[in-house]
Amino acid sequence: MSTFLLEIVTPERKVYAQDVDMVSVKGIEGEFGILPNHIPFVTPLQIAPVVIKKDRQEEYIAVNGGFVEVRKDKVVILAESAERQTDIDLDRAMAAKNRAEQRLKAKQDEFDFRRAELSMQRAMNRINVKKHR
Ligand code: ATP
Repeated sequence: MSTFLLEIVTPERKVYAQDVDMVSVKGIEGEFGILPNHIPFVTPLQIAPVVIKKDRQEEYIAVNGGFVEVRKDKVVILAESAERQTDIDLDRAMAAKNRAEQRLKAKQDEFDFRRAELSMQRAMNRINVKKHR
């Protein structure tokens, strides 16, 4: 079966770089899968799990926004942060979720509300990926 190189990169580190069979991502207009030899394009991503299929196994990665770029030679996901399931600290994500909840309840301006919403989405994404089997 043909494969392609998938890289997941953040400003801090390379989170993932392997040959895979397929990757499924959540773009602004919804989920879609990328197979080998896809035509080149770039599109923004939502805060959502990226699902990788490789050797009949699935891996979930918490990707927190960013972009996917399909190139001729590889697919690159560039995000502010991204964590593999084993790297996610569940307690930290739960604490971040609780903080975000408090901030969403508090009276505040639109900017802080939006920040709290994004923080909540990142925390939920990490919790969902960590708990996925
Ligand atoms: P927190 O409030 O817990 O810092 P955050 O959503 O503000 O969460 P980010 O700014 O998205 O955190 O990420 C900062 C760094 O911390 C990144 O390197 C990210 O991978 C890492 N990180 C954040 N939360 C977790 C977590 N629950 N488990 C593992 N790494 C995490």
